[in-house]
Amino acid sequence: MSVRVVARIRPLLKAEIEKDIIVHAAHGTGAESADTKTVVKIPNPKNFGENFSFQFNSVYPSEATQAQVFDNEVSPTVKHLFKGFDVTIFAYGVTGTGKTHTMRGGKSLADRGVIPRLLSSIYRRARKVEKDSTGESTVHVSMSYYEIYNDKVFDLFEAPEKRTPAGLPIRDNEKGKAVVVGLTERPCTSLKEFEQLYDQANVNRSTSATKLNAHSSRSHAILCVKVSQTTGDQTRVSTVSAIDLAGSEDNRRTDNNKERLVESAAINKSLFVLAQCVEAISKSQSRIPYRESKMTRILALGQNKSHTVMVLNLAPVKSYHLDTMSSLNFANRTKKIETNEIENQPFFRDMPGKGKLDAAPTRAPAANRQPLRP
Ligand code: ADP
Ligand code: MG
Repeated sequence: MSVRVVARIRPLLKAEIEKDIIVHAAHGTGAESADTKTVVKIPNPKNFGENFSFQFNSVYPSEATQAQVFDNEVSPTVKHLFKGFDVTIFAYGVTGTGKTHTMRGGKSLADRGVIPRLLSSIYRRARKVEKDSTGESTVHVSMSYYEIYNDKVFDLFEAPEKRTPAGLPIRDNEKGKAVVVGLTERPCTSLKEFEQLYDQANVNRSTSATKLNAHSSRSHAILCVKVSQTTGDQTRVSTVSAIDLAGSEDNRRTDNNKERLVESAAINKSLFVLAQCVEAISKSQSRIPYRESKMTRILALGQNKSHTVMVLNLAPVKSYHLDTMSSLNFANRTKKIETNEIENQPFFRDMPGKGKLDAAPTRAPAANRQPLRP
């Protein structure tokens, strides 16, 4: 399956005016139903008389609600997660286009973004699995949450003053998947508990911003939620990663002072490497430069065997024109990436007195037996 790419155009902000709107959602020419838009239309920056069209899996116009985006794009992935597949959902776009709004959202119920809705849906399904198995199966949910800032990994469960300046190391596990070493993993048994942990961690994210304004637009925030389903001595683990990427704006066009230039270079670098990876994959090159930045190692687009959805956030107005064009071009290449999802195999706890587990026909090969670490 390929990466599912959906675009979302945010509404006008107070300071923006209607006549500057240049980005529009439109219906495609295909046989899709009349209520699904799949095309983004935008003028050629060099010739406003000409329009470019970009086709995606779906396109959400500015009036689309949080519920619509979640129900259509993310809710269906929960089923895959419980079947043992990993899921990745990430927001890509220029700062100020609605990435955090889409992923985290606001406080009110209607404003809640993808992440709280996802967790709510996971708990609902977990309770159902437990109930339907009449107590045979249990589902455990745990989370880790970290950011990548200046190509360094910081645990968001750790107060900023306790962080080691070098950040946490990344290594490849036995399956070749990049994992962060020493990350806190917190069990969370209910939506309420999740929200407390998530809000607390987000405070850690913003307090480190005191010295650096708009820190959050320059760091990638990565939430990993691990779902472990146990029946008897068998446990199957799958992980959903929800990622709010740093702003993809081209900092060469921004007036940066020196300190900000260093940060921008790092941001540029990881998103630049991401673009290079996407390009190399789309050209079927043998060498994909994943390892050239921590974010691309972790995201491992097209390599992570994960069911992947990218939300491309777009601002509707002219002041974003060039950055919007480059986002659209990036997304256009991303939609062609194949993900080759594979199911995580259950692993067995060695139980005393159980003996001959090796004879069990469903036992996974040794290489697959370990649970995935986020
Ligand atoms: P980003 O994380 O990409 O920098 P934000 O999520 O912070 O962008 O969004 C920028 C501004 O636009 C915020 O004030 C946010 O509340 C608002 N916004 C973004 N998307 C929407 C939307 N779909 N509906 C209402 N307001 C939105
Ligand atoms: Mg943001």
